[in-house]
Amino acid sequence: MTTRTLTQVIDSIPTSDGAGVKLRRSLGRSQHLRVDPFLMLDEFSSENADDYIAGFPNHPHRGFETVTYMLDGHMLHEDHMGNRGDLRSGDVQWMTAGRGIIHSEMPQQESGRMRGFQLWINLPAKEKMKPASYRDIPAARIPVLDLPGGGRVRAIAGTAEAEGRTAAGPIEGLATDPLYFDVELPASAAFSHPVKAGHNAFLYLYEGGVEVGPDGARRALGRHSAGVLSDGDRVAVAAGPGGARFILLAARPLREPVVQYGPFVMNTREEIEQAIRDYQSGTLTRAA
Ligand code: FE
Repeated sequence: MTTRTLTQVIDSIPTSDGAGVKLRRSLGRSQHLRVDPFLMLDEFSSENADDYIAGFPNHPHRGFETVTYMLDGHMLHEDHMGNRGDLRSGDVQWMTAGRGIIHSEMPQQESGRMRGFQLWINLPAKEKMKPASYRDIPAARIPVLDLPGGGRVRAIAGTAEAEGRTAAGPIEGLATDPLYFDVELPASAAFSHPVKAGHNAFLYLYEGGVEVGPDGARRALGRHSAGVLSDGDRVAVAAGPGGARFILLAARPLREPVVQYGPFVMNTREEIEQAIRDYQSGTLTRAA
């Protein structure tokens, strides 16, 4: 059994996207800072409505999946096909853009705290042009596993286990076989969990402090930073004196070329040019 070590830290940088939503981007802030198949991770967190109220008006995507996890707040999603999804605290929306989606993501609150994550996960070449689809997952359908020592894991994707008990997340059947946990640890608690060998993995700390890695090779990870892990079949995290909250992500790497132009992620330059033409001609979302 090999415990993964922390091999790279991708600090987040403040940026803005959409119509001026302030957020922190770690993965994806440069095209070299990705963890295949994870393309981008944004954390949005603000008590100030001016930072988020303008939202993300209509915009396209092609070739990958977006996962929105709301910790606090209320966001409405609408797309060109008339789908509507109402995300509230603890809810997840897993969207497969496939060949194309045009949608908006708009805050539905004018005050209070808005906090959460948007993650982009790549699709394999053979699935990039499949029809768009959604899974709207209410908080009540995301299982929570209590950990010995007082922590807990919310399993959005993958199966959490502790002391012979398991909790399987609602997302399954994807080519990249993702694991997506939201982990909360009390002061000085230890967390050790299997992660499939050969899958790429990272964690993103959003509250408190942690050290990551096996005893004798632990490294501290700062808040609002992504810690990329070596290969291995287990992850070990020790919370600091203030406890910790982090998300843990792992998935099977695609090992395919990635060509990104804004909201389009394909394998070749030609496919990107096609996506731009399709968007301009109004056929992004329709089979030719
Ligand atoms: Fe979007």
